[in-house]
Amino acid sequence: MRSLAPDRRPKFGGDAQFQNEVRQRVHAFLTSTGRRERDVGAMYAKTALLLAALAGLWTLLVFFANTWWQAVPLAILVGLGTAAIGFNVQHDGGHHGYSDKPWVNKMMARTLDLVGGSSFYWHFKHGVFHHTYTNVAGHDDDVEVGFFGRLTPHQKRRSYHRWQHLYLWPLYGFLAMKWHLFDDFKTFATSRIGNHRVPRPQGADLLVFVIGKLVFLSWTLIIPLMFHSVGTVAVFYAVGSLFCGLVLSVVFQLAHVVEEAAFPLPEGDAARLAQSWAAHQVETTVDFSRDSKIASFLLGGLNFQVEHHLFPQICHINYPAIAPVVEETCKDFGLKYRDHGSFWSGVASHYRWLRRMGQPPAAVVAPAA
Ligand SMILES: [Zn+2]
Repeated sequence: MRSLAPDRRPKFGGDAQFQNEVRQRVHAFLTSTGRRERDVGAMYAKTALLLAALAGLWTLLVFFANTWWQAVPLAILVGLGTAAIGFNVQHDGGHHGYSDKPWVNKMMARTLDLVGGSSFYWHFKHGVFHHTYTNVAGHDDDVEVGFFGRLTPHQKRRSYHRWQHLYLWPLYGFLAMKWHLFDDFKTFATSRIGNHRVPRPQGADLLVFVIGKLVFLSWTLIIPLMFHSVGTVAVFYAVGSLFCGLVLSVVFQLAHVVEEAAFPLPEGDAARLAQSWAAHQVETTVDFSRDSKIASFLLGGLNFQVEHHLFPQICHINYPAIAPVVEETCKDFGLKYRDHGSFWSGVASHYRWLRRMGQPPAAVVAPAA
């Protein structure tokens, strides 16, 4: 039986000077430019647009598509629509970055329950473990893919990992399906996420968990099964969820699992990380496609992950505007601000990092100077 010893969570070193300064500068910038940190009008409009788009696409897919060439693109768009609601709506809500009103944040966070996740468990997995211990092996569950791959230098290498830069990409597609049908139920049964214990949902949270799963399974499987064969529903559910999983995985990997990101480990008996919390976020996180308005709109500001990790409680609509302030402050404190430039340079960096992590140590040759 697995040990249920209480979590031994790392502590951060350094001081809060950078954190205090970047916060002060960003808040001053937002005030001076008249921008609201939360309750941004454009965010409410975007939410309505994305939810209406998903409902419309799903209606077309289930009730109107007659041929495979109509159904395949619609299934892909439904899958991408659920990812977009995750990136844009639930993510801001779950981080309390959507509104000043707690009930609005909660409502937006719970859109995750409608698209196949659990807002209750997401708070621990993403909001607490990933956002606090970013890229720390054994504490950030987002860099754990089990025996399938080795994403950090501190994980066990298996011989077949030498091909992980090739075989992991198609497996990324299964992330959403695994999340929909397995992960939250396993967490409910075990009350564990990785090495961390988590509470069970109770009261209203339990009700949302159960109703959320029922609603999700209804619109993805049960209602379509009333009008189509089992095979048809299974195929189009698979198509949508594979695209959703691929996009969710790649957007995450480009921010953290790349050559430019650090993978610090806590040291000593006190399990202390070398950097302060804010400097740690900058070291472990990389932006991409900062100039792309389309990426910024569709990805909920997750192409500005440095800004997001420093300011998860600021609505993502503000990230492009505050990025130069964050970059300048990093420079003033001697912290390297990491940015891939384009989406594809991020993809290439993730590919090279996977290849490097999969090779035996002797085979890793330092690039020529
Ligand atoms: Zn986040």
